[in-house]
Amino acid sequence: MENLSALLYLAAAVLFILSLKGLSSPVTALRGNLYGVLGMVIAVATTFMLMDKPVLLLIIAAIAAGGAIGAWKAKTVEMTGMPELVAAMHSLVGLSAVLIAVAAIFHTGVEHTPVQKVELFIGAFIGAITFTASVVAYGKLSGKFGAKAVNFSGQHLLNLVLALSMVGFGAAYFVSDSHAAFLMMLAIALVLGVTLIIPIGGADMPVVVSMLNSYSGWAAAGIGFTLNNPVLIIAGACVGSSGAILSYIMCKAMNRSIVSVLLGGFGAEAASGGSTASGPKNYKSGSADDAAFLMSNADSVIIVPGYGLAVSRAQHALQEFAQLLTEQGVTVRYAIHPVAGRMPGHMNVLLAEAEVPYEQVLEMEEINSDFSNTDVVLVIGANDVVNPAAQKDKQSPIYGMPILEAHKARTVIVVKRSMNAGYAGLDNELFYMDKTMMVFGDAKKVVEDLVKAVSH
Ligand code: NDP
Repeated sequence: MENLSALLYLAAAVLFILSLKGLSSPVTALRGNLYGVLGMVIAVATTFMLMDKPVLLLIIAAIAAGGAIGAWKAKTVEMTGMPELVAAMHSLVGLSAVLIAVAAIFHTGVEHTPVQKVELFIGAFIGAITFTASVVAYGKLSGKFGAKAVNFSGQHLLNLVLALSMVGFGAAYFVSDSHAAFLMMLAIALVLGVTLIIPIGGADMPVVVSMLNSYSGWAAAGIGFTLNNPVLIIAGACVGSSGAILSYIMCKAMNRSIVSVLLGGFGAEAASGGSTASGPKNYKSGSADDAAFLMSNADSVIIVPGYGLAVSRAQHALQEFAQLLTEQGVTVRYAIHPVAGRMPGHMNVLLAEAEVPYEQVLEMEEINSDFSNTDVVLVIGANDVVNPAAQKDKQSPIYGMPILEAHKARTVIVVKRSMNAGYAGLDNELFYMDKTMMVFGDAKKVVEDLVKAVSH
């Protein structure tokens, strides 16, 4: 039985790894997802098989209820609501790590070895921090709590004191086996989860969510050691390391350090859209008809989608527009910045949903050198990811952030509702260039007008 279960757990672990590999490209994502589901079914069934007297009815009822809620959520969630949903899910992973640790501690008649005690301590406190931090992240992202950063003097000192006391109570549990010390340690970790997250503004939350994803993985891995469950250790380590890598990629693409994200305060100052210390600047604006005329007479068009596309759900209309242009002989491609939108892969998912052919969707490194040979760039609901200040203005907070070089194209068309700033709160020189035409309006409405204009 032991050999069989080890083999089945190994098969589940291999499927989890194949699942991660599959999820790395939209072409193989569906298969990746199926591998993940299959791995999970094998892991759960094997765990059932190993249990002495599984309380099957209770477990099946819990799986049915959780599965039904999950399926309903997955069907109804809007793409713009994904980050908060993911945050809510992580809070559950953290909570389960805490509950398993508490159950293990209070399970009478079981002696924990010193190594197990350390694992329990680490799994439980990471789980507790993940739980409350994810609840706060969920609240900020969904607008249920204020999204603004909460700062007060002595904040970092308070966190340090809390962290030291948490470790102190953990050590007390280690030497004395005291349940009270363990619970104190947990209570402090729960508070620390809140105090660590409140100084971070809502807009930085996706990076934090990705870090919490990583924490929840490590918490699960820690608990996997306690339960002596290899598949939990492997799955936890996969989640832990992929979350950490994702946080790193996001920070790099925003030219921010993880420390600056964690200390908070970015993008707090509201932008003065359209005017600077030197007074209002001039820009050109035109209609959807003008934009359609320019694009249907071009040889090549690159579309740069951003957060505004997601908000207005303009992806289907955009796909239709691109299709019409292609039928008229225009070469149309999409350029995707790694942090366009509010979560990694946001634009890829939207475009895949609208069935845009994958070969038309190019990553920043693949397409950046082509902007200078392109007739028209259509920037739609994007702002920071095409801000030339990132390359030219050493004083700019986004200086050094890699951008899509839309400003190098022959003509630039920007669709947005106003001259307001984007997430980073910065004015954008691109909007005032001679070659740029602004088309004001909700992205979906403008693209529908573009479709009408090229259909006549
Ligand atoms: P931005 O937030 O820079 O700009 C989006 C623009 O869309 C705004 O200027 C807004 O202008 C416009 N907009 C909003 N709603 C609509 C609408 N309904 N119709 C038309 N336009 C609309 O987005 P980008 O995608 O360019 O950049 C993403 C930013 O988010 C980057 O700064 C990135 O660092 C940050 N970020 C990204 C993360 C990720 O993982 N992807 C994570 C954390 C942060 P207006 O109000 O005038 O319409």
